[in-house]
Amino acid sequence: MSDVTSDLPVRSSRGSSEAPIRARILQAIFERRLPPGEKLTEERLAGLFGVSRTVVRQALARLAQDGIVEQRPNRGAFVAAPTRADARHVLAARAVVEPEVARSLACGCTASGLARLRHHVATENAARANGDRGTLVRLTGEFHVALAEEAGNPVFVRLLTELQALSSLSILLYERGEHAACPPSEHAAILAAIEQGDAELAARRMREHIAHVADELDLREPVARPAGLAQALGLAPDSVAPAGARQR
Ligand SMILES: [Zn+2]
Repeated sequence: MSDVTSDLPVRSSRGSSEAPIRARILQAIFERRLPPGEKLTEERLAGLFGVSRTVVRQALARLAQDGIVEQRPNRGAFVAAPTRADARHVLAARAVVEPEVARSLACGCTASGLARLRHHVATENAARANGDRGTLVRLTGEFHVALAEEAGNPVFVRLLTELQALSSLSILLYERGEHAACPPSEHAAILAAIEQGDAELAARRMREHIAHVADELDLREPVARPAGLAQALGLAPDSVAPAGARQR
C-alpha cells in the first residue's frame, strides 16, 4: 500500500477551488473506482490533490449537500450508500417531480436549450456505443438535471441534483439487468415530445421512463436471512443436537 507522501500529488495552483476535486471524486464514484460506503479521508485527499484540507473540506461539504457523500460525526466522510428503501423513496419522488419538469419544458424550451439537450443525448449514445458504463451512468443522470436547468426553476435543479445523485448510487448498488442507468432511446423520445411542444406527451413519457428506471433495479428487500443452521436446513431448533454431541 502506498503512503500519502509517495503518491504524486495532482498539481494545482494556490487557493485553487474545490470544483475540480469534486468533479474528480464524482467521476471516480460513477466509474466504480470509489464504491458506495468508501471512506474519504481529508488528509489523504489534500495530499493527493496538493491542496489544503480546507479546500478538501469544501469539496466534501458540497458533495454532502448533493447527497453523494455522507458525513458522520467523529468518523469522517464516506461515499453515500443508499439503502433499498432510500432508493424506492428517491424514485417515488422523481415520479412526482420529473413529469412536471418535462411538462413545463415542453411549454417553453429555448432553441439553445434544445440544442444543448440534443447534444447531451448524442454524447450519451456515444458512451453507450463505447460500452463506457461509468460515463453513461453519470451522463444519463446529468440529462435529468439539465432538463430541470432548462426549465428555469432553481428549486427543481436543487431537488433533481440530489435525487439524481442518489439514483446513480442506487443504480451502482442495485441494478439487476445489463442496462446501465436509463434505458436506451427514452431520453431522445422525451426530448422529441418537448421539441413538439406536446406537454402531455412529454410528461407521460417521463413518467414511463422513471418506471422503467425503477424496473431495472432490484429494490425488493432481501428475504430475511435464516436465524441459524437449523432454520436454514428447515429443521426445528430442538432437533439440532447440542455442541459436543453432534450426530454424524
Ligand atoms: Zn433517464
